[in-house]
Amino acid sequence: MSKPKEFPKQSQDQPGKQNEMNPKPEIIRADYKGSDKLKGKIALITGGDSGIGRSVAVHFAREGADVAIVYLSETEDAKKTKTLVEKEGQSCLLIKADLKKRNDCERVIKECMDTYIKLNILVNNAGVQFPKDSIEDVSMDDFDATYKTNIYPYFHLAKLSLAHLNSGDCIINTSSVTAYRGSSHLVDYASTKGAITSFTRSLAKQIADKNLRVNGVAPGPIWTPLIPATFDDVSDFGQDTPLGRAGQPSEVAPAYVFLASKDASYITGQFIHVNGGEIIGA
Ligand code: NAD
Ligand code: MG
Repeated sequence: MSKPKEFPKQSQDQPGKQNEMNPKPEIIRADYKGSDKLKGKIALITGGDSGIGRSVAVHFAREGADVAIVYLSETEDAKKTKTLVEKEGQSCLLIKADLKKRNDCERVIKECMDTYIKLNILVNNAGVQFPKDSIEDVSMDDFDATYKTNIYPYFHLAKLSLAHLNSGDCIINTSSVTAYRGSSHLVDYASTKGAITSFTRSLAKQIADKNLRVNGVAPGPIWTPLIPATFDDVSDFGQDTPLGRAGQPSEVAPAYVFLASKDASYITGQFIHVNGGEIIGA
């Protein structure tokens, strides 16, 4: 992928909308060939309407899976994901839900099971962030929303899914490079991502004896609706990575395919760092 020009000025509110972004993120490479890696599987993907989640939905479909996607309010984006999944010859169930609410988490699992009868792959991916330069400016409302969106549903949905997952099935959680290197302007968000990493490692150990795997992806700067919806200036977004550019969702989703497939059958409790070259320690 060549180095893009700087991103043009733009602004949105959270949750951002993919159909309002300029330029549009790349969802899947035109030359990405599926090879039935997920044939016959059912995947539930939160935040599947846009960004990384939409790309995961389309890649999973190209690999032969049917998907259920959860979104907060971006109905137009969600319908577009459904169209793209159907173009791959697979089905896509849309579930509108506020995952901050435990009842909605329960309804999500119920609607998915009512439609597909089984569940093989849970992708926890929804998230919010409220950048602030000082901890003194982080309101308790934003702090609450960040924790209740970014980690509570990951826990609830994993717990609720366990009743349905069987040997060989898996959970994939979305963390962030900020969990590993810290972030001065995302103190609360980065700490939820650290919680996701530790949750992933711990649950992986707990359920390994059932041959259930729990892994995660820790993206660096990826061009998604979250970015223009939360940063005032996106012009040089991602330029400070070793590769010198932001990543596209099309460059992140294949990591989810790998972790969801039999190719990763001996991998659990691990993270793939799709971050443009930042070296991560432990
Ligand atoms: P995105 O805006 O496309 O996706 C986030 C999704 O979360 C939205 O589509 C929204 O529907 C969903 N969501 C938010 N609050 C919700 C709620 N209360 N209930 C249900 N759904 C809710 O942006 P993205 O960048 O693709 O984000 C996906 C994940 O990737 C997030 O967890 C984010 O923290 C993580 N991430 C992104 C980057 C990046 O640079 N884009 C970097 C590291 C990690
Ligand atoms: Mg969205």
